[in-house]
Amino acid sequence: MKAQKIAVRNPATEEIVGEVPNQSPQEVSAAVARARAAFPLWRATPAHEKARLLHDVAQGLRDHAEKLARILTREGGKPLRENRDEMDWSASCFDYYAGICRQQRGRVIPSIEPSQLAFILHEPYGVVGAIVPWNYPILLAAWKIAPALAAGNTVVLKPPQQTPLSTVACRAIYSGLPLGVVEIVTGAGRLTGEALIRHPGTDLIAFTGSLEVGRHIAEICARTVKKAHLELGGKDAFVVCADSDLGVAAKAVAWAAFLNAGQVCTSTERVYVHSSIYAEFLERLKAFTESLVVGDGLRPKTDVGPLIGAEVRRKVEEHVADALRRGARLVCGGKRPKGLKRGFFYEPTVLAGVDHGMKVMREETFGPVCPVMAYEDFDEALRLVNDSPYGLGANLYTRDAQTVKRFFEGVQAGTIWVNDPLTDNDAGPFGGFKASGGSRELGEEGLREFQQAKHVHWDFEQKAKPWWYPYG
Ligand code: NAD
Repeated sequence: MKAQKIAVRNPATEEIVGEVPNQSPQEVSAAVARARAAFPLWRATPAHEKARLLHDVAQGLRDHAEKLARILTREGGKPLRENRDEMDWSASCFDYYAGICRQQRGRVIPSIEPSQLAFILHEPYGVVGAIVPWNYPILLAAWKIAPALAAGNTVVLKPPQQTPLSTVACRAIYSGLPLGVVEIVTGAGRLTGEALIRHPGTDLIAFTGSLEVGRHIAEICARTVKKAHLELGGKDAFVVCADSDLGVAAKAVAWAAFLNAGQVCTSTERVYVHSSIYAEFLERLKAFTESLVVGDGLRPKTDVGPLIGAEVRRKVEEHVADALRRGARLVCGGKRPKGLKRGFFYEPTVLAGVDHGMKVMREETFGPVCPVMAYEDFDEALRLVNDSPYGLGANLYTRDAQTVKRFFEGVQAGTIWVNDPLTDNDAGPFGGFKASGGSRELGEEGLREFQQAKHVHWDFEQKAKPWWYPYG
């Protein structure tokens, strides 16, 4: 039977810009079989050869960066310059793991007796099923594929149904790897994604996406005790202390809140500003926010593109309406831009006078909305930051070292950014506390997620064991 197709829509124009097959469980099964067949050979490939092939992928991503960035903008709406960054970061991730895969090491541990050697090896799982969301499809796939391959696994990747065209266009780049090392299957989450998760031939599921879908995936994996690596949602906080340069801090907050129209897992979605600077900070944030250009991401002057679709915009509007109903004050934005008749646009929005009873301070909004609340003392700020089910990242602007120490010690989040929001570093692990997931990508920790430890206990003399156990 011929696979059905999924249409891909440009969120800036609402026009259909392509389609991909909605692949069936049988097609997923064939892809998993190819990845399984490739696994023994890939696992045995010498580290220097793996590293060369990963560097080749990085180079391929760089060679095709402009073409891929344009596809990303057409299918996902993110401004072109942000997509050029996404291509750059994706290539850099492959280079990083190419380097790290040559430096992998086990370790020798103290043995029980002198006649023994005891050591730890780190082995791949086998076939990794990777599932990623639409907001950074190439980057988030790179954060899984590069460490998974460096660790010796093969991968079957399912890109998101909203933005699959860029991933499909990467097939030619991955084809430089031996057949089956990276397989791509396209389709809807429920059909294609779930087939990948339920398939007995996948050994680990690496998922980035929403809390709801992550929870569902964890439940499916639990039934067969398959490892689920989960990178979920966020509700990141940004604390601005009274000693900050207000002009700089206001721009940094706006950038962290409105990058990719607020559709970043680490978007700033809650801002806490010291009461002594609250009014002036809001003035500066308003002025800067109103200067941002909203429009089609293919236009060079665009700062903020569209939301990915009607459903996401509906949720954003609901959060703003809920806040206003409960007494928040609209500082700027709060509506669809007048001049843009088509596309899922929403004005960058600043809200003041918010509290933790409002949806906009509790649930992930995933849109260009920046609610700002005043705090009196730093203990209160810390309590507010931690008053969230999520714990992905948290930002602080201050010049005071004591305050920085209290922040990174007290905040429950996987990444703490001080005076430089949302900067990822390939060498630093990225992931969440609490409902944000608990897994880690990037860094050595990101490699370890795709490996299982094996302890080898070797005695050079063959022991005849007594029937009782000597260690109690
Ligand atoms: P989503 O959970 O709806 O979808 C993510 C992926 O899962 C898509 O490929 C989708 O097709 C697939 N999927 C959906 N239902 C499935 C199912 N039943 N079985 C298997 N696969 C299924 O998320 P989204 O709307 O695409 O992305 C936005 C969410 O992703 C936000 O919550 C955001 O915070 C989160 N996110 C997290 C990170 C991170 O690193 N922590 C990064 C980016 C985005």
